[in-house]
Amino acid sequence: MTNSEPKPTTTDAGNPVASDEHSLTVGPDGPILLQDHYLIEQMAQFNRERIPERQPHAKGGGAFGVFEVTNDVSAYTKAAVFQPDTSTELLIRFSTVAGERGSPDTWRDPRGFSVKLYTTDGNLDIVGNNTPVFFIRDPLKFQHFIRSQKRRANNNLRDHDMQWDFWTLSPESAHQVTWLMGDRGIPKTWRHMNGYSSHTYMWVNAAGERFWVKYHFKTDQGIDYLIQQDADDLAGTDGDYHQRDLYQAIETGNHPSWTLNMQIMPFEDAKTYRFNPFDLTKVWPHSDYPLVPVGRMTLNRNVSDYHTEMEQAAFQPNNMVPGTGLSPDKMLLARGFSYADAHRARLGVNYQQIPVNAPKSPVHSYSKDGLMRVQNVTDPVYAPNSYGGPQADAARYPEAGVWASDGEMVRSAYTLRQDDDDWGQAGTMVREVLDDAARERLANNVIGHLLDGVSEPVLARAFEYWRNVDKQLGDKIENGVRAG
Ligand code: NDP
Repeated sequence: MTNSEPKPTTTDAGNPVASDEHSLTVGPDGPILLQDHYLIEQMAQFNRERIPERQPHAKGGGAFGVFEVTNDVSAYTKAAVFQPDTSTELLIRFSTVAGERGSPDTWRDPRGFSVKLYTTDGNLDIVGNNTPVFFIRDPLKFQHFIRSQKRRANNNLRDHDMQWDFWTLSPESAHQVTWLMGDRGIPKTWRHMNGYSSHTYMWVNAAGERFWVKYHFKTDQGIDYLIQQDADDLAGTDGDYHQRDLYQAIETGNHPSWTLNMQIMPFEDAKTYRFNPFDLTKVWPHSDYPLVPVGRMTLNRNVSDYHTEMEQAAFQPNNMVPGTGLSPDKMLLARGFSYADAHRARLGVNYQQIPVNAPKSPVHSYSKDGLMRVQNVTDPVYAPNSYGGPQADAARYPEAGVWASDGEMVRSAYTLRQDDDDWGQAGTMVREVLDDAARERLANNVIGHLLDGVSEPVLARAFEYWRNVDKQLGDKIENGVRAG
C-alpha cells in the first residue's frame, strides 16, 4: 500500500463516488435517502461476503509453488507432469478436518494436504492427508464418521463420547486412531508434516503397462510435533498458529519443500497380495514396496487474496491427467463424486472457471451456461457435430485407470485375505515404530481424551479396542483411566 496519489473510490460498476464516510441524507440530521445506491451496494455486498464453509476441512490455508521432477519415472507413467526435467506450477491447501472455519489450528486432528498441479494436460489434483491411512474403508460410513467428530444436536458441543462410540463400533478405525493419538496427531507446523495420497491410484506408462501407486510427500524440514499441553496453550493464544507460520516462512524467503516418493506395485501383484491393497485403512509396508523418488515440491508464493485463492479453491481426486487413474478403493471412487458435488453446492456449478481452479491448459468442453459462467461458450454446443467442435480422441487419450471386475451386486465388506485384519498394522506401529517415550505420550493422550466425557458402555469398549491393538497398551490405558 502507498499513500501517494490514492485512486478514486468507485462503485462495483466503476462509477466514482462522492464519499467514503457519509451516507446521503436530507440535511445533516435528516433521514437517509433510498437513492444512495452506493450505501446500499456496500450493505448488500457485506451481507453476502461469507460463502458456506467446507464440510469438513473448513479451517485451512496454503500457498502457491512449483513441482520439479528430479528422477526418471517414465517406466511407470507417461503423465507429462512426471517426465524428467518437467516443472509445474501448483497450489496447496493444508487444513484440519473437524473444526469450523475459525477453529484453532492446533486441535488434535488429521491434516488435509491437497495439491493441485496445473499441468499441460489439465489439472492433476492429489487430495491427501498427513496420514497414510483413514478411519473407514466404505464411503457409506463417511457422513456418519464426520458427524460423530463434529457437534451434537442438542447442545452444539463436540463430544468425546460420540467420537469413541463411533470408533469403537468401527474397528477398522484403529490404525488411524493410533496415528491420531500419537505425536503426529498435532504437527508442529504444516511445514513439519508429510503428505500422503493415502489412496491407491493407477499409473500407466507409454506402453500401456499399468501400476498401482501411492504418493508420499516427505517433508524436507523434518517431522516435528506439539505435545498436547503446548497445543492447548496455542489454541488459546494463537488459533491461527499454523497459518501464520506458513505465511511468515514464505514471506521471509524460507520456502518449505517436500520430496515426492512413490510406492509402486505391479498391476498383477494386487490380485494375490496378502491383504487387499486398496483398503484405505492399511499401508503397504516399505519392505514390500520401497519408496521411489520422483521430484521436489517447493512453496514460494503466498496467496494475495485469501477468499478468491484459498476459500474458493476446489480440489477433487477425479481431476486426473493421461498416465494417471483411479483404483478400486471404494472410498476413492466415492470421493470422485462427492468432492466435485461439494464444490457445486458451495461455489456453484461453474466453480472450475474461478481463476485459482481454472487449468492453465486449454479447455474444450461442452459444458454450457449455469450460474456465474464467465467464459463465453461458442457453437457448436453439441457432439457429434459437422461444424468443427471438439472431438474426443480415444486413440490418443484412451480411458485411464481401467481394470476388470465381476460378481453379483452386493452390499459387503471387501473379501478377506490372509493378512486382512483391523488391528495388525496399528499394533506394528505401537510395538515397532514408536519408542518408549512416544508410546508413553500415546497412552497419556488416549487417557486424557477418554477422561474428558467418555462414559460406559463406550469406555469399556475403548479399553478392549486398545487391548486389540496392543495388550500392554490397552491395560495401561484402562489403569490410567480407572485411576482417574
Ligand atoms: P517401516 O519401518 O519401513 O516404516 C515405518 C514408518 O513409520 C516410517 O517410515 C515413518 O513414515 C513412520 N513413522 C515413524 N514414526 C512415526 C510416528 N511417531 N507416528 C507415525 N508414523 C511414524 O515399516 P513399515 O512400512 O512396515 O510400516 C510399519 C508401520 O509404520 C505401519 O504399520 C504403519 O503404522 C507405519 N507407517 C508405515 C508407512 C508406510 O507407508 N509403509 C508410512 C507411515 C507409517 P514416514 O517415513 O512416511 O514418515
